[in-house]
Amino acid sequence: MPTPTYVLTVSGSDSSGGAGLQADNRAIIAAGAFPLNVVTAITIQSPAGVLAARPVPAKFVARQLQELLQAYPFAAVKSGMLVDVEIVEALAFALEKYPGLKYVCDPVLRASSGRSLLTTEAVALLRERLMPRAVLTTPNLDELAALSGLGGPDLSSAQALAQEIGQAILLKGGHGSGAECDDWLLRANAKPQRFTAPRIHSRNTRGTGCALASGIAARIAQGENLPTAICNAKERLQESLQAHRGDDWTGDGPGFL
Ligand code: PLP
Repeated sequence: MPTPTYVLTVSGSDSSGGAGLQADNRAIIAAGAFPLNVVTAITIQSPAGVLAARPVPAKFVARQLQELLQAYPFAAVKSGMLVDVEIVEALAFALEKYPGLKYVCDPVLRASSGRSLLTTEAVALLRERLMPRAVLTTPNLDELAALSGLGGPDLSSAQALAQEIGQAILLKGGHGSGAECDDWLLRANAKPQRFTAPRIHSRNTRGTGCALASGIAARIAQGENLPTAICNAKERLQESLQAHRGDDWTGDGPGFL
């Protein structure tokens, strides 16, 4: 009998469906795995952006983590919006008990519309407690700048961060410019590896960061190695962006369907 591949996401709900756990779930299902969700925050979002956000109490997040991790044989965990220090701590504590569990960290700092989704103190804690535990962290250029504090943001600051953390970093080029959208995999003591695709100009790109990290986690969960999982998740995201670039959404549409 086939056994489902369970992937756990620890992220916020986007009531407008573009990003957050809603994007995570679409990407995980598309990759052939089954998503379960620890919800960290409830947001109110409309075509105008994030109107309000309320964290789920950290104790309640901790309980969700405890019950799910105990009950299901997860193959991977992916985190997104973690809101504050207490929730980052709850996740770090839970992961300590499952050292073999593959963990992908999407360091969500703010919504595309500008609202902060992680406090400044929590950024430092994420770097200290979660990134060293993650098989991969997936910053965009702004997130790299906030996490590295090493100038740039560029490939050398990403390489230095990977070296310092001792884990892999995928620097995403989606917010950059140029005809190609290059993502770079940086690992300690290894040459940078490039994943490239033609840049697609579209309004419908919400939640692409969430979907990419979740797609990678779902593929790692199914036994793919890191570069293969990145390559396949990026290819699938690219197909979706291309197919839906002209769709007439109410507001900016999702990048992954
Ligand atoms: N998580 C939630 C709940 C959000 O609302 C957002 C953006 O609005 C994000 C994550 C980040 O989304 P993206 O994948 O576009 O970086």
